[in-house]
Amino acid sequence: MFADVIVDIQHEKLDKIFQYRIPERLKDELHPGMEVIIPFGKGNRQIKGYVTSLSETCNYDLSKVKEITDISRNSVAIEARLIALAAWMKEQYGGTMIQALKTVLPIKQKENAKVKKHLRLLLTEEESQEKLAFYQKKNQKARARLLEALIEAPILDYELVTKKLNVTLPVIRALEEQGVLKIESEQVYRNPVKQAKKSQQEIIYTEEQQHVIQGFRQDYLCGIRRTYLLHGVTGSGKTEVYMEIIRTVVDQGKQAIVLIPEIALTYQTVMRFYRCFGDRVSIMNSRLSAGERYDQMMRAKKGEVDVMIGPRSALFTPFPDLGLIVIDEEHEPTYKSEQVPRYHAREVAVHRAEVEDASVVLGSATPSMEAMYRARLGEYQLYEMKNRSHMQQMATVYTVDMRKELKNGNRSILSERLQELIEDRLNAKEQIMLFLNRRGYSGFISCRECGHVVKCPHCNVSLSVHKGGKMVCHYCGYEQPKVTECPECGSRYIGEFRAGTQQIEDMVKARFPQARVLRMDMDTTKKKDSHEQILSAFANEEADILVGTQMIVKGHDFPKVTLVGALAADMSLYTDDYRSGERTFQLLTQAAGRAGRGDRPGEVVIQTYDPEHYAIEASAAQDYEAFYEKEIRYRSLMGYPPVENLMAVLAACEDEVLLEKACKYLKEYILRIKGQAQLDVIGPASPGVDKIKDIYRRVIYVKAPEYRTLVVLKDRMEQYIEINSGFQKMRIQFDFNPMNL
Ligand code: ADP
Ligand code: ZN
Ligand code: ZN
Repeated sequence: MFADVIVDIQHEKLDKIFQYRIPERLKDELHPGMEVIIPFGKGNRQIKGYVTSLSETCNYDLSKVKEITDISRNSVAIEARLIALAAWMKEQYGGTMIQALKTVLPIKQKENAKVKKHLRLLLTEEESQEKLAFYQKKNQKARARLLEALIEAPILDYELVTKKLNVTLPVIRALEEQGVLKIESEQVYRNPVKQAKKSQQEIIYTEEQQHVIQGFRQDYLCGIRRTYLLHGVTGSGKTEVYMEIIRTVVDQGKQAIVLIPEIALTYQTVMRFYRCFGDRVSIMNSRLSAGERYDQMMRAKKGEVDVMIGPRSALFTPFPDLGLIVIDEEHEPTYKSEQVPRYHAREVAVHRAEVEDASVVLGSATPSMEAMYRARLGEYQLYEMKNRSHMQQMATVYTVDMRKELKNGNRSILSERLQELIEDRLNAKEQIMLFLNRRGYSGFISCRECGHVVKCPHCNVSLSVHKGGKMVCHYCGYEQPKVTECPECGSRYIGEFRAGTQQIEDMVKARFPQARVLRMDMDTTKKKDSHEQILSAFANEEADILVGTQMIVKGHDFPKVTLVGALAADMSLYTDDYRSGERTFQLLTQAAGRAGRGDRPGEVVIQTYDPEHYAIEASAAQDYEAFYEKEIRYRSLMGYPPVENLMAVLAACEDEVLLEKACKYLKEYILRIKGQAQLDVIGPASPGVDKIKDIYRRVIYVKAPEYRTLVVLKDRMEQYIEINSGFQKMRIQFDFNPMNL
């Protein structure tokens, strides 16, 4: 037996793996992830290494292969635990060990030192308050916002200010000129929040909050570790609960990881954690360079921080004594990795917690089917918070049947009711969000006579119309002039099928000329930071109406919004994806949660062509239970996750003929080795997008009641693919219980 051992895990090229012989006495004990002592180099220095995998064959000259000296006993190195986690992920999700290692290990990359800037407040408390009052009186909102932040934390990270607080350079300059602040630079990375004031206002928890906090604390202090699902409506105070629970864990000398989808990681959220944990908290986001990320990871490893907040990848923070993992907005699809290994953060968190004796708290207003299913099975402990913490009411929801609107002669995208309510809110100087439940852009071009849809010649997706008469492909960027005649039948009745956000913006402007309208979609957020700029402009009440795609409904708190319109609410029901009902329910519930976050109650209008669909009905009634019952019945009937398990085998190749042949062989292979195993094979089929940048794609689905069955099948297929040269030109990946196909 031989073992693959990596020596330098901080090196970018993790593929530098050495083979060692396993001595007889260690054979039964040795597992991937273990730390071992090995002789290395010419002098056979005894150094530490980590076993990544075991094999029966040796790829090198047998006489030159050295032997492992020993297993590093009592090793508690966090690296060993992360490597074991990588081995588990490779097993669960497929791919290579290298890919898994690169996912879990903080890797040092050579990088030029970057100059860090920060802002320092120069005024005294009194002067600051005076200045603040002045800005507020003059309605200089950005200046006031920046000064307020500085009063709270006299030294602020420059990036944090420009990106998260959305203060532009001219505003910073203006305050600098007025002697309010100084811009400072420093070479080394310093914790930007060191000076943040730790001001814990006493907060009286609601009964529902107390129930969760006490339940958790009792378990935790008795040494009970488990996974909790916190199902709490938007505004029920989940974040406050997380912070209290984290405190319990930190007080025990342990550390906590908090996963928050990047889009919800707003300045406000970050500051709440800073106020609670001061400089013992660290934040990760995708804007950090590889070097900064590595620094953060090393600070965590050295015990300089107790709480790490970040998106999916923060899950692998090398804390020496992990006590808790919180996953907020647990249902978000971004928790599933799109890269191999295609892991789900929830599943990996539960596994890591089990191994490291930590607990997991999952939170959501609309728990995923997976999480609720496990809670119902008793695997997770369920807690519910049904009321908003300030006793604000949930919004009133109206459903409008757009078929009836048409019958009544209203051909507009906006129903009568929505138009009336918009008028009303504009008069009351309150804000409105109009959410189009589909990807942005204008609609596709189709022929009304023959039904032909104009598609991209490279990607096989419909082209979208842009202003200026162009048709554009959203996958590869291909462009062509807008057609005026059907390329198939020559008919002149060819045109745009449905409105996109741009048309809605134009239409709203025409119908309500007095309104100031902002639009947020893929088109208007292409530029760096434009996403945040639009949101902050809206937060500053620089606009009355925000029109946008689903990106506007995620986790933003606009107290002045009292009306939300969900246009074409059922559009997302028609994607060919078994999660479309769940996705629709989540989006509409989230959209409804945006209305009435301030003092005034909110209203929501759901416009639909399918008001009887259970996902629409349940979101209109804001009834999660009703939705869950219907949806789980459907999943169960169809054998879809979470009731059964689904593995997608994704194959891609430039040569379509070769690809089809390979898929045929793969399917035959599965059927041949299937034996008595309970599994269903579907396909090969063309996925929604069956060609991207001239690379063809096919997918084979395998369904099985047991996850394990699929893992075993995956292993055998990986071997089969490796030894058959016919697959060499093929890229084959596995996706377990896929989210976005
Ligand atoms: P969620 O995460 O469930 O949407 P948050 O924790 O963000 O809810 O709470 C919503 C708002 O209510 C926040 O401003 C929070 O500070 C406040 N809040 C939460 N719990 C309480 C409480 N017990 N007393 C007063 N304010 C609270
Ligand atoms: Zn035609
Ligand atoms: Zn294309």
